[in-house]
Amino acid sequence: MNRARLLVFNAALGALDYRVPEGMAIEPGSVVVAPLGPRQIVGVVWDAERLPTKDVPDSKLRPLLEALPVPPLPAPLRRLIEWAADYYVAPLSSVARMALGSSAALRGGGTTTEYRLTGEEPKRITPQRAAAMDALHGEQATIRELAEIASVSEGVLRGMVGAGLLEPVVVDIDRPYPRARADFAAPTLSEDQQAAADMFVAAVEAKKFAPFLLDGVTGSGKTEVYFEGVAAALAEGRQVLVLLPEIALTENFLRRFEARFGVSPVLWHSSLKASERRRAWRAIVSGDAQVVVGARSALFMPYARLGLIVVDEAHETSFKQDDGVRYNARDVAVIRARFEGVPVILASATPALESMHLADTGVYQRIVLPDRFGGAKLPDISIVDLREEQPERGRWLAPRLVEELKARLERGEQSLLFLNRRGYAPLTLCRHCGYRFQCPNCTAWLVEHRLSRRLACHHCGHEVPVPAACPECATPDCLVACGPGVERIADEVAEIMPGARVALVTSDTLNSPEKIGEFVAAAEGKLIDVIVGTQLVTKGYHFPDLTLVGVVDADLGLEGGDLRAAERTYQQVAQVAGRAGRGEKPGEVLIQTRHPTAAVIDALAKGDRDAFYAAETEARRDAGAPPFGRWAAIIVSSEDEAEARDAARAIGGKAPNLPDVLILGPAPAPMSLLRGRYRYRLLINARRSAEVQKIVREWLGLFDFPQGVRVNVDIDPYSF
Ligand code: ADP
Ligand code: ZN
Repeated sequence: MNRARLLVFNAALGALDYRVPEGMAIEPGSVVVAPLGPRQIVGVVWDAERLPTKDVPDSKLRPLLEALPVPPLPAPLRRLIEWAADYYVAPLSSVARMALGSSAALRGGGTTTEYRLTGEEPKRITPQRAAAMDALHGEQATIRELAEIASVSEGVLRGMVGAGLLEPVVVDIDRPYPRARADFAAPTLSEDQQAAADMFVAAVEAKKFAPFLLDGVTGSGKTEVYFEGVAAALAEGRQVLVLLPEIALTENFLRRFEARFGVSPVLWHSSLKASERRRAWRAIVSGDAQVVVGARSALFMPYARLGLIVVDEAHETSFKQDDGVRYNARDVAVIRARFEGVPVILASATPALESMHLADTGVYQRIVLPDRFGGAKLPDISIVDLREEQPERGRWLAPRLVEELKARLERGEQSLLFLNRRGYAPLTLCRHCGYRFQCPNCTAWLVEHRLSRRLACHHCGHEVPVPAACPECATPDCLVACGPGVERIADEVAEIMPGARVALVTSDTLNSPEKIGEFVAAAEGKLIDVIVGTQLVTKGYHFPDLTLVGVVDADLGLEGGDLRAAERTYQQVAQVAGRAGRGEKPGEVLIQTRHPTAAVIDALAKGDRDAFYAAETEARRDAGAPPFGRWAAIIVSSEDEAEARDAARAIGGKAPNLPDVLILGPAPAPMSLLRGRYRYRLLINARRSAEVQKIVREWLGLFDFPQGVRVNVDIDPYSF
């Protein structure tokens, strides 16, 4: 009798045993189809001894139906999945699902039929078809994907095929990607760069686990250096995974990659079309995808021959996933490298405190690039104390900053103003009755967006048009904007410098690769005088004529006082400052603040990074915070407030009483209402050595809550 234990993608079912029919070849990691009641499910054959389940006698087992034509998930990946499920207290099935990326891909390669416009211009056309034709310009995808792109029904598109407006194209899903060439255009490296590159090349050739912290100031040429590691892996016929924190950054990265290796890398992120996803996944699994550039989800893919992992801008908080499996891609990348036995490079100008600590204690090998490439100097940083140098009434830019902006405009140089707040104003109220616009689903104000004339919630996406009168007292034209957002700053710049060409850079305005490309081209072509942007402009870009950076409100991130507020402020300001003076002309940075003596602002002003890390390290040590202690959060939520509160109290009532483990709460979570769910939170603070995961699992295992209650565990939470 031949049994197989399956991991199935339903946390409630967990693991199920089946009989392996004669002639079916499977092994641990094989992806198979099995019967479940009247349905068919997909599962992964798992190592039985690592996945306990109910004992079912042989005679009761149903046979597997089919082994899918994809290679088995390799053992190092299965270990990674187990590790992540265990560490993040998440269902194994939820983690494993991330590895299967595309369900269509599991069904094999072959061909698929995509459609594109024929170029035919119809004499008469329905408005719906006309709109579809506009939307589908340059697109080629399956009918289902095109329907989504054009927001029309599949029926409309089939009609267009019939009318000769769309034509089918048969594509081979497994058509190979163009080959990257390790030696396409190797740069001449500086001495520091060469020394760093040599280490990476040696590590890749050694084919062993080796974690590196590539700690180089902004503009030091970190990308060129880790590209040499990539080249070494290519030469060895191994695959490389490069994780980027944001899709918005890939545009810039892709151009540099192409210049170095002659082709584009394979992309993996959540907005890929289904057909692209299927092709990419299959190429990753077969090994045809040489270099994969992706968001954090690329981390769990079944690479056939991984040789190197790079995490660029490794300090970025977007590597932390905040729903579903709450993992930190930076940490998981290191674990994956360990299981795969390959080097991993964490690159940053402002490493996370945890990464610094691991380098200080010798766990990571630190590689320092202390100088900017090509002799450019780091910018001069000075403080504008807003308590003394006040902006004019109703304005947000202090006179000194305004003067510097004007001087840049006169000299034909570029400036950048940074404010991490989308929209026009963070709060809108009625001047007559004081009514404030609040999101009905979240504990948050609605943010006015003047460009789209809407009030929007930045947490759930709820939107309403800006009303003509107050919804409470019906007074017309009574709304006042309170506080600045980037749109308001852009208006202010236009008022003080009427001739200036201002570009607004936020996720609202730069929401596609094309728009990002246009922005970069305009900035490089000197068609922009002042860039006003959110954190989207803090990293990655290299504009040689940008000589002034103004931080509109450095105190913004310090409000709320969460664990990483100071660190995040330091990173954001240092990164955006790093955009100044990257070319031949020196850069200058003005930081507007009301707290010039705060340790983080002081360190920024003095350019004393070590002082900041030392002070922050001590503060963390005192607080028992990471990297010295461990935090975990339990979030209890429900659409019914009383239900959420009762469940949280029940959990709090059974809190384990252990030495070295401090449990706080339950209390309403900082966002006590989020996307229509009421949220309560318990916090656990423990010694590094405490078995927090085991404690939490046993503790939460005591409860069985009603369906509407969700209990989420967040290990190493980012903000709370
Ligand atoms: P970082 O990521 O460290 O901020 P970049 O990798 O963006 O720095 O490099 C800064 C600039 O210097 C980029 O325009 C890059 O193309 C250029 N550069 C870096 N190293 C070299 C090199 N060895 N040869 C030519 N240009 C380089
Ligand atoms: Zn909301």
